[in-house]
Amino acid sequence: MPAYTPRTQVAQRTRNQVLDSTQTSTTLSTRHLGKCPHDKDRNYHRCGCPVWCQRNRKRWSAETNDWAEALKLVSILDVRK
Ligand SMILES: [Zn+2]
Repeated sequence: MPAYTPRTQVAQRTRNQVLDSTQTSTTLSTRHLGKCPHDKDRNYHRCGCPVWCQRNRKRWSAETNDWAEALKLVSILDVRK
């Protein structure tokens, strides 16, 4: 995931932010459990492992294992900022 996104691109993409989590300021990753076969891929999110949020250098649990649910949560957070 690129650490830097030009501002002009952000402006053009805000309409799709709910569909594409990389365009919001909060990003999601999966913290796979030890026995999960996908434990090398933080972006794999169909295995039911806990979802974590990250914004800047802060990380916290989304308190759900459901990626769609977590996306909804961060879209609310990002609207409120
Ligand atoms: Zn997993």
